Amino acid sequence: MRAIIIEKADGGTAARLGDFPDADLMDGDVTVRVTHSTINYKDGLAITGKAPVVRRFPMIGGIDFSGIVESSDHPDFKSGDEVVLNGWGLGETHLGGYAELARVNGNWLVPLPEGLSRAQAMAIGTAGYTAMLCVLALERHGMTPDQGDALVTGAAGGVGSVAISLLAGLGWRVIASTGRAEEADYLISLGANEIMDRAELDGRAGPLGKERWAVGVDAVGSTTLANALAMTRYGGAIAACGLAGGMDLPATVMPFILRGVSLLGIDSVHAPKDRRVEAWARLAKDIDLGKLATMTRTIAFDEVIPAARDILAGKVRGRLVVEI
Ligand code: NDP
Repeated sequence: MRAIIIEKADGGTAARLGDFPDADLMDGDVTVRVTHSTINYKDGLAITGKAPVVRRFPMIGGIDFSGIVESSDHPDFKSGDEVVLNGWGLGETHLGGYAELARVNGNWLVPLPEGLSRAQAMAIGTAGYTAMLCVLALERHGMTPDQGDALVTGAAGGVGSVAISLLAGLGWRVIASTGRAEEADYLISLGANEIMDRAELDGRAGPLGKERWAVGVDAVGSTTLANALAMTRYGGAIAACGLAGGMDLPATVMPFILRGVSLLGIDSVHAPKDRRVEAWARLAKDIDLGKLATMTRTIAFDEVIPAARDILAGKVRGRLVVEI
């Protein structure tokens, strides 16, 4: 089968589109014919080798996929079922989604929710599913749109684009923080009410700033997250899921101890199954498919490697679907 294969090379790693023997697929009780995958920031890190995402060699890249079950020994799945998989170490420790076939643990699979096609599920992908996990965490924390605005950082990226569209659809007034001023019209079309230059959140954060938003979805980390926290209203919360700007967090405890602000950590990779099913059900209900289409570009299998470089360079707008 054709696959994006990542191997060790010259003290680093190298990725290529090539042939991978079906017989070398890893253990699992469900075999899936992959029809679509996508490119997330982490896929960019894995393919370029810029961070040690891949922990088994040779690896097939791709942290998520959608497809059709070809054969199954798992009680919940049968041949012909449409399924989605996000995370669980795909493309890191288990052969991933950039391949014509995947063999996986059936407990990792989520049935394709009604109302979404396999292509739409990958337009959402791990980035969009993570945006939904952020929204669900804020809701569980009791946050509602009447409490103030919602900040989205890394706005023109994958997590950011889906987060804006979801939050706007749920009635939030959205402030989109971006380094790409030229994407203002795009962000407004997704539902952003205000565009903020990301430089405003880039400097060293003071302990507390003017209270500007009640909630935030942060895909950037570092000084951006520190500033986002310092400018969160009394009792507010920020869902932190990303590190596109850095993995450090140069903040003080003042927002927590003087304003009761909460920092909600979001992990998509090992999120338990019930939370995944809940997130995908909410995505099927809440996502605006028209907006999803405007934020998505479809690419071919042989465009994956250049696209992985582009996403790390901050050149990808919204979401990319890969047709396998
Ligand atoms: P994208 O590359 O699509 O989006 C990231 C965005 O962050 C960019 O578009 C850009 O937005 C902004 N950005 C990039 N570099 C910088 C920088 N140096 N400083 C400030 N902003 C920057 O990636 P994804 O949406 O796929 O992922 C976003 C982040 O979320 C990544 O760090 C990823 O690893 C993480 N993630 C975590 C998950 C989890 O389970 N916790 C799951 C999914 C993603 P703009 O151009 O608008 O400024």
